[in-house]
Amino acid sequence: SKPVVGFIGLGQMGRPMASNLFNKTAANRAGFVVFDVFDGAVADFTKTHDGAVRASSPADVAAQADVVITMLPSSPHVSSVYEQMAPAVRKGALLIDSSTIDPATARRVAKSVLDKVDAVDAPVSGGVGGATAGTLTFMVGGTKPAFDRANPWLQAMGKSIVHCGDNGNGQVAKICNNMLLGSTMAAAAETMNLGVKMGMDPKLLAQIINTSSGRCWSTDTYNPVPGVMANVPSSRDFEGGFAVPLMQKDMGLALSAAQDVKASVPMAAAADQLYKNILATPGLEKKDFSVVYEWLSGLFVR
Ligand code: NAD
Repeated sequence: SKPVVGFIGLGQMGRPMASNLFNKTAANRAGFVVFDVFDGAVADFTKTHDGAVRASSPADVAAQADVVITMLPSSPHVSSVYEQMAPAVRKGALLIDSSTIDPATARRVAKSVLDKVDAVDAPVSGGVGGATAGTLTFMVGGTKPAFDRANPWLQAMGKSIVHCGDNGNGQVAKICNNMLLGSTMAAAAETMNLGVKMGMDPKLLAQIINTSSGRCWSTDTYNPVPGVMANVPSSRDFEGGFAVPLMQKDMGLALSAAQDVKASVPMAAAADQLYKNILATPGLEKKDFSVVYEWLSGLFVR
C-alpha cells in the first residue's frame, strides 16, 4: 500500500518544499498531512493544495504518516517536535529533518526514534528560490539504507542529493558551508568598502576581483555593494534573501560545534561578531545578511 506523507513547518522554505513534494509525488503516495504551529500557514496550504489534510499536532502527523519531513527554525523546535512525535511514530516510518540545527541535536533526535523508524538529517542549500524551483541541494546524514529510502522524496524537492555519512553529518556539511559563507560575505564587504573609500569604482573592482584570486560566491554571485549586480538583495535595499538572524544562528551553530571539537575558528568568530552587531541595529536586523556592507561602510543612518 502507498505511504502517507506528512510535512511539519510551512514557513519560508517549508511551504514551497511541501508544495513541490505534494505536486510531484501524487502518484506515489496515499495521502498528505500537514502541521504548523501557525494556523494560517496550514489553512493556506490546505486551501491551495486539494487533498492536503490538516493535522492537529506533530503527534497526529506521526500517527498518520509513513514519511515525515520537518522544516523548522532551529534545534529547540526540532527537539520539541521529535519529543512529541516519538511516542506516536508508525513502526518502520521514515523521518527526514531538513531544518538547519546543531549536529549533536540531530544525532540525539535521530537516536530517540531509530529503534522504531529510519531517520535522516537533510538540511538544504539553495534558499527560497531553490525551494520554489525544486532545485535544492540536500546534505544527508544517516545510514545508507535510510539515505536510499529518503532519496526519491528529496528528489521531488531538490536536484542534488548528497550522502554525507552517519546521522548528524548532513548538518556538519551544512554548518561548515554556512560558516564559510558568513566569513566570505563579511570579507567581501570590508574589501569592497576599502576599495571604494580609496576611490575605486565598485563595479570595476568587482569585475577585477571576479577574474582574480579573491573571487568567491560573495563577490561574483551575491555582491554586497548596491548597484554592482542586478537581482541580488544589495540592489533592492537588502530585502528578501537570507536574513541576518538565520545567518547569525548558523554562525552560532558552527562556533559552538567548533568549541565541542576544539577546532580554532578565528575568522568565523570575527564575522559572527559583525552579524551580532547588525542584529542589535534597529532597521538592519531583518535584512539580508549582505547588509554587512551597509553596516561596515557607514551608509546606514539611523
Ligand atoms: P521560517 O521561520 O520561515 O519557517 C519555520 C516554520 O516552522 C514557521 O512556519 C513556524 O510557524 C513553524 N514552527 C515553528 N515551531 C514549530 C513547531 N514546534 N511545530 C510546528 N511548526 C513550527 O524559517 P525558514 O526560512 O523556512 O527556515 C527553516 C529552516 O531552514 C531553518 O533551520 C533555516 O536555517 C533553514 N534554511 C533557510 C534558508 C532560507 O533562505 N530561508 C535556506 C536554507 C536553510
